[in-house]
Amino acid sequence: MKYDVVVIGAGPAGATAAKFLAEKAINVLLLDKQVFPRDKPCGGGLQARVIKRYPYIKKNDLIDSYSFRLCFHSSSLKYKIDVLKSEPIIAMVLRNTFDEGLVHLASQNGAMFLEGKAAVSIKTNTDYVRVTLNDGTTIDASYVIAADGMWSTMTKQLGGTQKNQNIGMCVFEEYPVSKNIMDQFFSEQRCAHYYLNIFGIAGYGWVFPKKEHVNIGLCEFRHAITSDYQKKNLKTLYVQYVTLLKETKIIPKTLQVGTVKGGVFPTVPMERTYRARTVFCGDAGGLTNPLTGEGIYYAMASGEIASKVIINALNNGFALSQTLSVYQRWWMHDFGKDHKRYFRLSKGWRVDVENLVRLFEKDQKFIDLVLSVVMEPLSIKKIRWKVARHVLSVYIKNRLGLID
Ligand SMILES: Cc1cc2nc3c(=O)[nH]c(=O)nc-3n(C[C@H](O)[C@H](O)[C@H](O)COP(=O)(O)OP(=O)(O)OC[C@H]3O[C@@H](n4cnc5c(N)ncnc54)[C@H](O)[C@@H]3O)c2cc1C
Repeated sequence: MKYDVVVIGAGPAGATAAKFLAEKAINVLLLDKQVFPRDKPCGGGLQARVIKRYPYIKKNDLIDSYSFRLCFHSSSLKYKIDVLKSEPIIAMVLRNTFDEGLVHLASQNGAMFLEGKAAVSIKTNTDYVRVTLNDGTTIDASYVIAADGMWSTMTKQLGGTQKNQNIGMCVFEEYPVSKNIMDQFFSEQRCAHYYLNIFGIAGYGWVFPKKEHVNIGLCEFRHAITSDYQKKNLKTLYVQYVTLLKETKIIPKTLQVGTVKGGVFPTVPMERTYRARTVFCGDAGGLTNPLTGEGIYYAMASGEIASKVIINALNNGFALSQTLSVYQRWWMHDFGKDHKRYFRLSKGWRVDVENLVRLFEKDQKFIDLVLSVVMEPLSIKKIRWKVARHVLSVYIKNRLGLID
């Protein structure tokens, strides 16, 4: 079998890349080791900017529900930043239907989809790449997009590694709940909750309400852990977390914790996200937000960028050495510099977040500044000095005793 491009992994990164390639009549094979619809450990929250950049998600009905309200609770639960907007702040998806929908869009545009087959090896030759599947089939292509997720086999085979501490660890569960009960507890605004530093973890707990599901999880950023940190058992804390949510009437008392699932995401990009004829997208390239763990946006954006680079390469026949390095430059320009900034901020996951929520709970200017990067595909570069100046002035006023 011979294709222009083989995309390995049909998550948001791979399916988006395949869609954009197929739209330009590129001969593309999208393959996944699982049969779809398949599940993927995830909260399923998309910041509004994802919809603004990829409006076809909404047009094709891939959104389950919208949250117009967010509550950020301090770890003591004494303070909270409560944000309410007339337009959605977060869109919620169910990963099995969302990912299947993205694959469907790629197929509709002409991509071939092969499911239930794993790529087990990749070999780069002078003018093509050979991918071997678990049934022994070989597929040749001019270029490969490796979008095979966090534990990417392709990345490992081509010499890419992730340090153990550069990950986010999660425990979570998605519970089916009737629409009536969801309306009763989360209202039609589907208020989503974040519990910052809950139980002293270097991260947060989330409660993401959907139409007829609620996704509840805890997430810890390993790179933010310092030497004085007492190791926590996230599974044990999860049971306490759900109990706390019931006691504070955030979720119904009847909700039973079942088989709590685990999940991991990368928090640092690979040093070099391209090889001679291959690029690494989404989690396979380590392209998840190191402050929040949000990865769907960056998976889709990197898939889109990879497709554009490869279309250029196929059309213009650039020298190989130039061609795929452009991919790294483009995603760095698009969101990579922000990732570095988020990484620096994320070191603060254990630093006085309680005080931050206390000081900013009624600070509309701060809330609006932060919301501007959630709602729009906007670099934090544009607001960082405004935020820094504002935060500094609030801290100084607090020191001078001018804030209650
Ligand atoms: C618990 C948890 C909660 C999260 N919550 C959110 C959230 O609320 N919002 C958000 O934006 N992000 C969230 N993320 C991150 C997000 O899930 C990922 O960043 C995103 O799924 C990455 O997309 P991807 O396409 O790169 O990889 P994936 O979605 O992981 O897709 C990779 C695909 O590759 C396939 N595959 C793997 N190996 C092979 C192989 N050898 N051959 C063929 N196919 C293969 C897999 O079957 C899979 O379908 C969360 C992550 C975790 C772990």
